[in-house]
Amino acid sequence: MDYLISCSICEEKLLQGILGSSTEFKNFYETERSKIKSPLIWLQNDKLRQEDQISQGRLANLGELSTGYVAITVHNNPAELSDATTVAHELAHAIIREEGFPFIGPYPECRDSSVINLAFSLNNMIHDPLVIIKLLKSGFVLREEYENECLDAIRKNNIGNKYSGINSIVFTLFYVQQLLENELLFSDSENHCTKLIEKIEELYPANIAKGKQIFEFIRSNGFNSPDKVRQIYEKIFDIYPGIRDLTVIC
Ligand SMILES: [Zn+2]
Repeated sequence: MDYLISCSICEEKLLQGILGSSTEFKNFYETERSKIKSPLIWLQNDKLRQEDQISQGRLANLGELSTGYVAITVHNNPAELSDATTVAHELAHAIIREEGFPFIGPYPECRDSSVINLAFSLNNMIHDPLVIIKLLKSGFVLREEYENECLDAIRKNNIGNKYSGINSIVFTLFYVQQLLENELLFSDSENHCTKLIEKIEELYPANIAKGKQIFEFIRSNGFNSPDKVRQIYEKIFDIYPGIRDLTVIC
């Protein structure tokens, strides 16, 4: 992310439009926004692609953590109706951090991109399902959006690769995330996300056993409190002992 071409913008002006046009966003914003106690900085970046519209700041970068702020980068200022879900999604990530859910950073000295990727995957695997729970509670209908993403991955055959080492773990964690999200979003199996999961299972049987083991642990343990999420990370470190020393639970 190139911050030099981003600039700080006013939250009220940025969100005014979607607060008026999206009931779900208004619900979400009114009940959840006040939970973010850290300073929240909004940045706009024209070069940000829609699918990269991500929250930054207190992410898996321990250097930035110490600054204690949250920053969300958006593409459109003011935000448009079609941005409502994404903006709520990024706010929800910030709230989850404020609620004390642990997250994973790469070991402070580590700049290896596959380890940074691993930290992201460990975070996404749990945090994104938590985000979905918050958004569904506010009335967002997410099924179509997720189905489109899954369909896109199937069409582009963008389903993993012959991964090895850390990247293979990253892929397994992605699979676990798909299982968790699928359970939250769909009550039937007639959808593209279930098809994506079936495809992964068919193509990468080696990743499935450990993925299922993690998924079953998360299911029986639950993940609705910071302590439970910490237990999940500990369990994953037991399953993959090699990654304990590469990452830090924050
Ligand atoms: Zn997310």
